[in-house]
Amino acid sequence: MILILLGPPGAGKGTQAERIVQTRGVPQLSTGDMLRAAIQSGSPLGQKVQAIMDRGDLVSDEVIEQIITARIREADCAKGFILDGAVRTTGQAEMVDRVLKNQERSLDVVIELAVDEDELVNRLGNRIDEAKAAGKPVRADDNEETFRKRQAVYRDQTAPLIPYYEKQGKLRKVDGMGTVAEVASAIDAILDEIAAE
Ligand code: AMP
Repeated sequence: MILILLGPPGAGKGTQAERIVQTRGVPQLSTGDMLRAAIQSGSPLGQKVQAIMDRGDLVSDEVIEQIITARIREADCAKGFILDGAVRTTGQAEMVDRVLKNQERSLDVVIELAVDEDELVNRLGNRIDEAKAAGKPVRADDNEETFRKRQAVYRDQTAPLIPYYEKQGKLRKVDGMGTVAEVASAIDAILDEIAAE
């Protein structure tokens, strides 16, 4: 099963992707996690993207193409994978379509987590407080100013993917404002339906 999770920063894509990894046995490909790992390791790629990520902008489509194409060639992606926040521009969507076509594969479904932007900002505040209380590090781009910038970037550059995938007949919308369990069961219903096709 090849699945894309679409939705603004803080919508819960990562939480849901982690659960799908457990229930469906396909890996989660989060370009955000891969880029943060590159920064952590001090690699040339990490050095190149750090300032861009810190200010909440998108890294180039070329960088994403490199990391995605290398990753989906790995053996654990043979059964499928979840692209979690990994497709954020029309150029990236076209690239993923192209790469999959070359491998004689195709996307099964794109699930959009629909959420309310103001509510996401409130949730961010809670997430920061919880992380601090637990002594966990807070992401450099998880502060209100950069978070709002990331929302604007989503609106401008990523939201156009909604009509893109609608046209392909691949888009399914889920209300992302429910509890983690409610969102999970809505996603499960869609994945069960697709698995049965
Ligand atoms: P995330 O962890 O998905 O919220 O991503 C954190 C940051 O990594 C984003 O704000 C971007 O700067 C960068 N990033 C992650 N994935 C992509 C992508 N597919 N295209 C461009 N930039 C990305």
